[in-house]
Amino acid sequence: MIKTSTALNKNTTYRFGGICNDFYTLSEKSEIDKIQNLNFDNKYFILGKGSNVVFSDKNYEGIVIQNKLDNIDSSFTNDSVNVDAGVFLPKLSRYLKDNERTGGEYLLGIPGTVGGAIKMNAGCYGYEFMNSVNFITYFDTVDKKIKNITRENIEYSYRNTELKNAIILSANLGFEKEDPVKINKKMTDFTQHRKNTQPSAIYNAGSVFKNGSDYFAAELIEKSGLKGYEIDGVKVSEKHSNFFVASKNAKAIALYKLVNYVKEQVHDNFKIELQEEIIFIGEFFD
Ligand SMILES: Cc1cc2nc3c(=O)[nH]c(=O)nc-3n(C[C@H](O)[C@H](O)[C@H](O)COP(=O)(O)OP(=O)(O)OC[C@H]3O[C@@H](n4cnc5c(N)ncnc54)[C@H](O)[C@@H]3O)c2cc1C
Repeated sequence: MIKTSTALNKNTTYRFGGICNDFYTLSEKSEIDKIQNLNFDNKYFILGKGSNVVFSDKNYEGIVIQNKLDNIDSSFTNDSVNVDAGVFLPKLSRYLKDNERTGGEYLLGIPGTVGGAIKMNAGCYGYEFMNSVNFITYFDTVDKKIKNITRENIEYSYRNTELKNAIILSANLGFEKEDPVKINKKMTDFTQHRKNTQPSAIYNAGSVFKNGSDYFAAELIEKSGLKGYEIDGVKVSEKHSNFFVASKNAKAIALYKLVNYVKEQVHDNFKIELQEEIIFIGEFFD
């Protein structure tokens, strides 16, 4: 496992973050054994593609491990397939299409990894990633052992999976056979819907806030008159009020301030406490 000093802003979709001097990349299966030599008593963070993460502008004083293992089994066994946690979701989506399997069409537009999708229980258009999981293989950073856990033994809900102390290594997923014409149509429809409703700007991390059981965060933000509202180069998208888009030289602190301002305004107007879906890591103060 290679240890480097790495600029975190090169590894997140928001392009925020300072330097991490203990950045480990897991790129070969043979390196998995070496994970146990790391000191997990220190602060650590497991990174996928960083498409749901906001590192602060300060340096990260801890270990970051990025899982880049990205193999997918060459074929299905009884409707199931093993995939590494570092597999890019659009790659998985295309693989499923090529194998005439349905249930992964929505993943084409989510720029994260399988590990991130499991932890976040990523989803859209009525799909949730955990519903495709049979079992997960992970490294337990407390017991320092590799373990398997089946979905039935995992607690998960909207945008959250309770997997503590786990570096997800791979997962066994289930997808059923389908007519390729129908798969193609879904992929086209979903892609078109995203183009119509979401900003094409690259510096964002998808939805900032979770939706509630009886509200859409975007609607509350819009009704608070905050569409287009900007703090220091980070802006509530004009196209989708739950996407906050950063300009090239903006800082993470600006996003942090904007998120808190929007929460305050929505709370004042609707007495609702918005919950972040994006994850802030590190210290956020000037
Ligand atoms: C343009 C855009 C559109 C998006 N659309 C959607 C959408 O439709 N639906 C949706 O749900 N999300 C969406 N997202 C958010 C994001 O892509 C998903 O949450 C994705 O699953 C995060 O994966 P990641 O690999 O980038 O994880 P990261 O952002 O790197 O990490 C997210 C969390 O997962 C954990 N994690 C990552 N890998 C591992 C691992 N191997 N082991 C243990 N923990 C791990 C991290 O520690 C962190 O807690 C979007 C983001 C963008 C930028």
